[in-house]
Amino acid sequence: MYKTWEELEGACLACKKCGLCEHRTHVVFGMGNRTAGVMFVGEGPGEQEDLQGRPFVGRSGQLLDKMLDAVDMSRDKDIYIGNIIKCRPPKNRDPLPAEQDACIGWLRAQTAFIQPKIIVCLGRIAAMKIIKPDFKIMREHGLFFKKGGVLMMATPHPAALLRNPGNKPAAFDDFIKLREEMDRLGIE
Ligand code: SF4
Repeated sequence: MYKTWEELEGACLACKKCGLCEHRTHVVFGMGNRTAGVMFVGEGPGEQEDLQGRPFVGRSGQLLDKMLDAVDMSRDKDIYIGNIIKCRPPKNRDPLPAEQDACIGWLRAQTAFIQPKIIVCLGRIAAMKIIKPDFKIMREHGLFFKKGGVLMMATPHPAALLRNPGNKPAAFDDFIKLREEMDRLGIE
């Protein structure tokens, strides 16, 4: 449907398909390497992301960057990162199913351009939307699922790790598994 990234981004930045457009400061489109073999998908923008127009820029983004760095990866070079929902839900509530349905087309179009070999879902909401509706994040994180020829894995959301630091070692294991899978597939 969209021929170029510029066309897609321009349409997304003007989107008013759901009520979340009314309170946003910025549409948070996504960022990173548009030819990366790995795509990270989060839930939606928080306060800092809404203010700056970039995904994962608050404290949880800093933690994500640290975890990437620990497996010799960076968000600019090795991944593309976007969210299920492009505008901030009020008071950071979970996005409603209708809002997710309205917005998911943007992520699908981004995925079609990138054609990642691996998709990593950050947190329960993204995993339930992308991998399977009954995904149990603390039971199934770190496992790889294959859908439509793409490997998919979920790991706890960095914001959840800030609330429950005891889960950080288990989440870090997921990043090691990701790195191993990238090496196995020859993703640089
Ligand atoms: S959340 Fe998504 S669907 Fe809703 S207005 Fe923002 S970009 Fe459009």
